[in-house]
Amino acid sequence: MPLLNFRREVARFYLNLHSVSDPKNCGRPSYSVSSQKRVPEDVRKNPQGHYLERTLDGKQRKCAVCKKNVRKQCVKCDVGLHVECVIPWHS
Ligand SMILES: [Zn+2]
Ligand SMILES: [Zn+2]
Repeated sequence: MPLLNFRREVARFYLNLHSVSDPKNCGRPSYSVSSQKRVPEDVRKNPQGHYLERTLDGKQRKCAVCKKNVRKQCVKCDVGLHVECVIPWHS
């Protein structure tokens, strides 16, 4: 079936799902925004295209593995990473 129809069906499905949920929870976000950006596992574990680069303007970021400051980042995951943290992060 056409993609547009499929999307519409999916949207309707989620709308239905939402309307039967507990009204007490309405208007309140059910998730908290984490400071650490989530990287989907299929991106992270896809072996292609991951390499470290210096952050823009040498800006410090937090390493996604050890949480220390770092001035390098994985271009694909867009998270801060040390050279020695690349392997644990991507495996
Ligand atoms: Zn690290
Ligand atoms: Zn990566």
